[in-house]
Amino acid sequence: MTEYKTPEQKKSFYNSAAWKLLRLQALERDNYECQHCKKEGNVTVDSVKIPGQKKEVVLNVDHKYPIEFYPKLALVLDNLETLCINHHNIKEGRTFDKIRPRSKKKRWDDERW
Ligand SMILES: [Zn+2]
Repeated sequence: MTEYKTPEQKKSFYNSAAWKLLRLQALERDNYECQHCKKEGNVTVDSVKIPGQKKEVVLNVDHKYPIEFYPKLALVLDNLETLCINHHNIKEGRTFDKIRPRSKKKRWDDERW
């Protein structure tokens, strides 16, 4: 049975033609929108490539059931969901400073006095 436990195994999976094709099918199905943003009433789509600049990648195609634990679902379209980077990180339990609220307003601004 094919496993996707090591970084090498995952890398070769994500480089496979089968994955790249299925990924596109998932994006098409999801209308190239983050499905979690959509539930919140927002539209998050991939950025448009600006000539001369590196394209910013916004959308990820995520496995709802991680391939590490559910290798049989690696190439099942129903197991895929289009997510923006923010929602993907939240789902993966990764939080970066930049996705936290920028700054909480201080209730009292003592320094003004
Ligand atoms: Zn999102």
